[in-house]
Amino acid sequence: MTQQQLLKERLDQIEQRIAAACKRAGRERSEVKIIAVTKYVDETTIGDLLEIGVDHIGENRVQDALPKYEKWGDRGVWHFIGHLQTNKVKEVIGRFAYIHSLDRLSLAEAINKRGEALDLVVPCFLQVNISGEETKFGLSPNDVLAFLRETSNMRHIRIAGLMTMAPHVENPEETRPVFQGLREWKERINEWDFPHANITELSMGMSNDFEVAIEEGATYIRLGSVLVKPV
Ligand SMILES: *Cc1c(COP(=O)(O)O)cnc(C)c1O
Repeated sequence: MTQQQLLKERLDQIEQRIAAACKRAGRERSEVKIIAVTKYVDETTIGDLLEIGVDHIGENRVQDALPKYEKWGDRGVWHFIGHLQTNKVKEVIGRFAYIHSLDRLSLAEAINKRGEALDLVVPCFLQVNISGEETKFGLSPNDVLAFLRETSNMRHIRIAGLMTMAPHVENPEETRPVFQGLREWKERINEWDFPHANITELSMGMSNDFEVAIEEGATYIRLGSVLVKPV
């Protein structure tokens, strides 16, 4: 079996699981997009993924991502999902369509400045640390309102979604409150009605817990190992 066939087989299995989760939640399959997280694999695999119809690609490290982007950047939609240092912002903006890891004011300032230079409005996801784990990046929920106020005059940032990472646990059911929490923040923020923060997307759920995330409203699931784990 070729690598492409193997990927297709895994994708088919994932599709069945997504369909079942959507059905349980009364959602349409079209409401959920798969981001293939390709940090574990090389650019050949990205080519195979694009060939089998996966068109959202996620990378979490700028240095690793750039050569892959050079090769395939004109195909697919690229998502930057990892912690982003302000000094790397200039490499990312203009290449990646979405930043999932907006988590502090200094980063917002850097993105806004770069967006201004390129005459772009950059769609961002606000990363919120719902679980409160100290090892996780993300804005503390307590700081969300202040963050939105402080960024509301940044014309080159649009907050299109929220992103979170659930704790890695054996039983994915335990992650449900984290995903529910993120969805509640979406509703709360939308009630505040900031012009730059109309939240339509929830980026949540990974290989271990994507079905629970779909049941709780995920619109982007970020799948690494379940899809592209090297064999
Ligand atoms: C690695 C990574 C993923 C994918 O993780 P898997 O458990 O392999 O699916 C998703 N999101 C982020 C931010 C990551 O760094």
